[in-house]
Amino acid sequence: MKIVLEHLTKTFPGRGKNAPDVKAVNDLTFEIPDGKLVGLLGPSGCGKSTVLNLVSGLLKVTSGKVFFDDDDVTNIPAEYRGVGIVFQNYALYPHLTVEKNILFPMENFKGDKKLSKQQMQERALAAAKLVQIDGLMDRKPAELSGGQQQRVAIARALVKQPRVLLMDEPLSNLDARLRLQTREEIRRIQRETKITTVFVTHDQEEAMSISDLIIVMKDGVLQQTGKPQEVYDNPANLFVAKFLGTPPINVFHGCVKGGKLMLGDDVIFKVKHVEDQDVWVAIRPEGFLLDKHGCLHCQLQNVEVMGRDVSIVATHPAMEGESFRAIIPSTTRVDDEAATVSFVLHPEKVLPFSKADETRIDAKLV
Ligand code: ADP
Ligand code: MG
Repeated sequence: MKIVLEHLTKTFPGRGKNAPDVKAVNDLTFEIPDGKLVGLLGPSGCGKSTVLNLVSGLLKVTSGKVFFDDDDVTNIPAEYRGVGIVFQNYALYPHLTVEKNILFPMENFKGDKKLSKQQMQERALAAAKLVQIDGLMDRKPAELSGGQQQRVAIARALVKQPRVLLMDEPLSNLDARLRLQTREEIRRIQRETKITTVFVTHDQEEAMSISDLIIVMKDGVLQQTGKPQEVYDNPANLFVAKFLGTPPINVFHGCVKGGKLMLGDDVIFKVKHVEDQDVWVAIRPEGFLLDKHGCLHCQLQNVEVMGRDVSIVATHPAMEGESFRAIIPSTTRVDDEAATVSFVLHPEKVLPFSKADETRIDAKLV
């Protein structure tokens, strides 16, 4: 089932006497295609959970609409929307066994949805198998690891056979290894069930690695949607460019002058059809190629060998910030005693942005 959000807005009253209202979600419009896993991504406080709670019905909209396929569900209470929700903190019933936790949502089914005890048990077992906890049905939550508890929470969301699965930072309480493993699991479960899924996270790597599509938000406002690689390669603005990628993109003060793109005194590319102006130039760490005749002249600070590749830390007079980081293959020899280092730049990894409004300048670099 597809989810459509139209001009969705949510305002919270300010806390305290003269505190202004908080526009947690501001005129958000987008469509989540049927059967996809969509990563809703942005820094803490940008409105991700609020969006999820508006989709689930746990919060009422201030204005705008929510559609599930062609059904307008904006004013339908959460319990009738057919959504499964998984939170960061699992929210399991501590005194119930795993099996009873998973059975619980089905016991409230009424009317023609009501199931026999046997049907409920079959469904619970199928969900437990899907998330691979069917061997733990008699345990209590306290006897499970964090990863196992989160699997129970996912099974509990799935037994309702929801039309939509909503997950709010489901991996945040897990340690690094479990987080990796569990996100692969979520991907597998989503592929098997084909339930339209919204996965909220502030971790760009997590969102990039499992999503069919990502939606990037900032301050309640939609910044960009697209396939993870497309958004990484073609960020619409400087915020998105900086938010995606590890190590992060390197930002320089640049300018366009007479058809040349310059960083300080270094002419790095020719550009056509761009007016003279000051610009931000953001360069991905993998966009630097070591070359003693290169156009970008830098001071070498440090060379870090990291196995698969080498990280060169250097400075340049036009840098925003202290130093930048270039990632080059470990097969390239680097003289770490040298004081200076020069690079040629990969044109597709060099992204100019307007200094006026930080939007992308669509320019062909040669
Ligand atoms: P995220 O999930 O991206 O971290 P939230 O959706 O939780 O962000 O919050 C977005 C903004 O709305 C924040 O500024 C937060 O303080 C505010 N906010 C969230 N819930 C409430 C609430 N119930 N009352 C007042 N302000 C809220
Ligand atoms: Mg949140």
